[in-house]
Amino acid sequence: MKKYVIAMDQGTTSSRAAVFNKNGEIVSMVQKEFRQIFPKPGWVEHDPMEIWSTQMGVTMEAMQKIDAHSDEIAAIGITNQRETTVIWDADTGRPIYNAIVWQCRRTADMIEKMKSEGLFDKIKGKTGLVLDAYFSASKIAWILENVPGAREKADLGKLRFGTVDCWLIWNLTDGKVHATDYTNASRTMLFDIHKLFWDKEILDYFKIPESMLPEVYPSSHPFGVTDKFGGDIKISGAAGDQQAALFGQCAFEAGEVKNTYGTGGFMLMNTGTNAVDSAHGLLTTIAAGDGGKVQYALEGSVFVAGAAIQWLRDEMRMLRTSAQSEEYCLAVPDTNGVYIVPAFSGLGAPYWNQYARGTVVGLTRGVSKDHFIRAAVESLAYQTNDLTDAMMNDSGIPITALNVDGGASANNFLMQFQSDISNIKIQRPSCVETTALGAAYLAGLEAGFWTDKDEIKKNRRCDNTFSPKISDEERNKLIKGWRRAVRCAEFWANEEKEND
Ligand code: ADP
Repeated sequence: MKKYVIAMDQGTTSSRAAVFNKNGEIVSMVQKEFRQIFPKPGWVEHDPMEIWSTQMGVTMEAMQKIDAHSDEIAAIGITNQRETTVIWDADTGRPIYNAIVWQCRRTADMIEKMKSEGLFDKIKGKTGLVLDAYFSASKIAWILENVPGAREKADLGKLRFGTVDCWLIWNLTDGKVHATDYTNASRTMLFDIHKLFWDKEILDYFKIPESMLPEVYPSSHPFGVTDKFGGDIKISGAAGDQQAALFGQCAFEAGEVKNTYGTGGFMLMNTGTNAVDSAHGLLTTIAAGDGGKVQYALEGSVFVAGAAIQWLRDEMRMLRTSAQSEEYCLAVPDTNGVYIVPAFSGLGAPYWNQYARGTVVGLTRGVSKDHFIRAAVESLAYQTNDLTDAMMNDSGIPITALNVDGGASANNFLMQFQSDISNIKIQRPSCVETTALGAAYLAGLEAGFWTDKDEIKKNRRCDNTFSPKISDEERNKLIKGWRRAVRCAEFWANEEKEND
């Protein structure tokens, strides 16, 4: 009777729904973009009702496309853009303000003040996060301070906060369930990831009443039941997008790593039951799990990954399509000594230099467009390699294989170069929709659609693996050049700061 699991994949620019069969294959998928609202420079908002309506719409359409009925759906799993903050009135269910999106910088000053008060280490120790405006805490505080009437309602216990998963669960259950999962809670900067509860001291600092906060459960959990799709369907999975992708890649054991090559890059390493404190600017976060002992992950991000290829295409006009970059890379044996550091908006882990800027080094008269494009594509691999290095140093766990996904992981040249530079095996699964797949697995495991993780692992097909082909000597020489190029990108910024 039960033939499918639905993944609701609520992203930053679009809402998607994917219907999976028992083999973990997508049998139907629908996507709809929604409005990005930019009220002021650096501010980013979404309309929570639009998030809800597009997510409902795509889910219904995905079911209709294959004529799936609610009694054929074993469960719904939710995965979502993380950190984005919604606050609504508990009585009416109406948001009191737009959703403040993770990218929004409006609370940067609040965070700077906290840094000057010496709160960095305390926050990192409890939440695993670096003190930053990305995370939900300062966004909640902003709404309570700036939306007329919000503070009074909050003090009367009449407001509810949620990340996007929580907002969807609330709506799917007509306000009966106010709950989130560990992975989403771990991105709020309010949750003690070691003790697994909302931290009173941080809540007091931000003046956030505990009555606003959802219950927190494992990612695979019977959150509730929805009757929105023609009959009752269980909601039994929820996880933030990157953690869902780690789960979708079947990285269940300590030391297993995934890297997503999207517009930006996101690497997560499962560190098992050990919450590793990073000395290299990585975040410590909770991994999606099935209700056993909580597992942790180290997370590092690259701000500009596939976006460097978009830049070649749209601004430099060197490419018609991103995929074409591969032909250019293969047309030459190397970059002819050129390195491109695409630090368009600074550098993330392990450098954390917000002033660094994009840099091209090593130009000579013989450098061609092929070399230039190859240097840009290689920069994705070098940046990823910096993260694998940092993770190995922090965790003490050697990385032997990297599970990849995201748009640019389709580039075979890039995958081979990554394998060469990092000296590790690259594994690209046949289903690269790992975020949605992870949400489906989390929900389907709880609902008994899949028996256990071993059964899920059997679904995994790796259409391509890449193994290192270059010598240690060559690898070391290339990496040395990259490090010099990064220093140039930083040096440029340092001089400017000194002259200010
Ligand atoms: P996101 O989910 O962040 O929007 P995707 O995972 O869809 O991103 O990946 C899109 C990115 O991947 C774009 O920046 C694009 O330039 C890049 N990309 C897509 N295909 C290729 C390719 N074959 N080679 C290199 N980059 C690619």
